[in-house]
Amino acid sequence: LAELATELRQALLAERPADQAARVNAMIRRYGAQPYLAEDVGQPFHLHFHGSGGTEVEALGGEFATALALIVDGYGPDRFGQCAAHQCEAVYIDLTRNASRLYCGTACTARAKTAAYRSRRQT
Ligand SMILES: [Zn+2]
Repeated sequence: LAELATELRQALLAERPADQAARVNAMIRRYGAQPYLAEDVGQPFHLHFHGSGGTEVEALGGEFATALALIVDGYGPDRFGQCAAHQCEAVYIDLTRNASRLYCGTACTARAKTAAYRSRRQT
């Protein structure tokens, strides 16, 4: 799973769109992502992209790789970033209308705003 997380991070933060596409495509091939309709309990049929390998990590790898490909296709290659909060290394997917996201989540957004406020009050 740690290896998959590293692959995802490298694909998300690739500097050039061609490198990002190559990494995502390599993950799709590696994990053998295949679309199929599944009916989970209490849900209507919906699309899965599990990898073709037998392990949970391979299944997740196929899902994640395909999800990244769909985001790049629908939103463009520059919708991923590393959180701007101090000492946070999380990456995020920016699906905002104007591509304005800076932080990984509400906790880091709040921490950064509080730090900025304190910084302004001290000067
Ligand atoms: Zn963060």
